[in-house]
Amino acid sequence: MTISGAWQRTARGAGLLAADGSVAASIFAEMSALAARTGAINLGQGFPDEDGPAVVLEAARQAISDGVNQYPPGRGQPILLEAIARHQQRFYGLTLDAGSEILATAGATEALAATILALIEPGDEVVTFEPFYDAYGGLIGLGGGIHRTVPLRAPDFQPDLDALRDAVTDRTRLIIVNDPHNPTGAVFPRETLELIVELANQHNALVVTDEVYEHLTFGAPHIPIATLPGAWERTVTISSGGKTFSLTGWKVGWLSAPAAIVTAILAVKQFLTYVNAAPFQPAIAVGLGLPDAYFDGIAADMKAKRDVLAPGLRAAGFEISVPQGSYFIVADATPLGFTDGTELCRKLPGLAGVVAVPIAAFCSPGNRAEYAPLVRFAYCKKEPLLEQASAQLAALSRS
Ligand SMILES: *Cc1c(COP(=O)(O)O)cnc(C)c1O
Repeated sequence: MTISGAWQRTARGAGLLAADGSVAASIFAEMSALAARTGAINLGQGFPDEDGPAVVLEAARQAISDGVNQYPPGRGQPILLEAIARHQQRFYGLTLDAGSEILATAGATEALAATILALIEPGDEVVTFEPFYDAYGGLIGLGGGIHRTVPLRAPDFQPDLDALRDAVTDRTRLIIVNDPHNPTGAVFPRETLELIVELANQHNALVVTDEVYEHLTFGAPHIPIATLPGAWERTVTISSGGKTFSLTGWKVGWLSAPAAIVTAILAVKQFLTYVNAAPFQPAIAVGLGLPDAYFDGIAADMKAKRDVLAPGLRAAGFEISVPQGSYFIVADATPLGFTDGTELCRKLPGLAGVVAVPIAAFCSPGNRAEYAPLVRFAYCKKEPLLEQASAQLAALSRS
């Protein structure tokens, strides 16, 4: 190992660097670069191609003009914390103390980072479902935790409940639950969420939820785990304004939990970012207070987008699982003769002028083979673009 390589200890130990010293898990960057280079339609990364509500954008401009530009309080601006409390009450009947039970963060990502780093010790086990949002694996590694996964399998990507029971033991410190789920679009039914709470109680584990797609479900309304009996005391609920307001670049997120847990997380958060971008906080507070029509509208719009891309992918010859929430569709390329989704994603710009990402990028190394033929397409894009992508993908079934 080179001298500089020898200094890469923690990043290497946590599996964040590839053997050649480059940043691992760079498939997202590789695919976005491929889209930029080839001009292909980028259905790889999950960001919308339209900005969020005009009143929210205007509120940020106004905040800058009004001089909301210096360090805000570490927990977040009271106006945002109170808006989050009202949102949790209005949608879920959860009564929170804005001053002690809520923390504003730099996106859901910092909420996850501070939570995991605050709540695990080296050697603790953390259970997630698989495929999983890539940050979970990296953060568990940075915290010295051991990552155990419960597989989600096509066609519906629901967990086998016995496998879930087997994964949670007295060594489990955290169970991370992303519902609605990225990348599969699965929404867990109440029974599954109840079992998670039961197992957490039985084994004295904490539940960490990632609910960034809470307002993007297409059937049954979203159920926050914290609302279930026996859950609140041991649950950290995480969300973000990025997906709900189509403002992924603003990175305003938050978490809520019992005060003592929030304090532990704040102790870590203060040394990650100290505080978060001041003018965006009152603006997201405006968003959280928008009328029900806004929240119903984004779910209906996203469902309509899904219903453009899903038949397009089927017509192209993929086998798909129809998502019940989120921004994404998982497509199986096996019927098209591809068994390696990573290879397909590298070829897809040339074959059809479209970019996707392989599901293997959301899996631990040992389990990538099982998910190899699957790829993820994002449909959080304008409908004409999704129609064009569908038309281009039709070339696959002709070749
Ligand atoms: C987008 C996303 C995040 C990151 O949210 P930010 O607010 O941008 O940090 C976290 N979890 C999941 C499942 C996501 O899809």
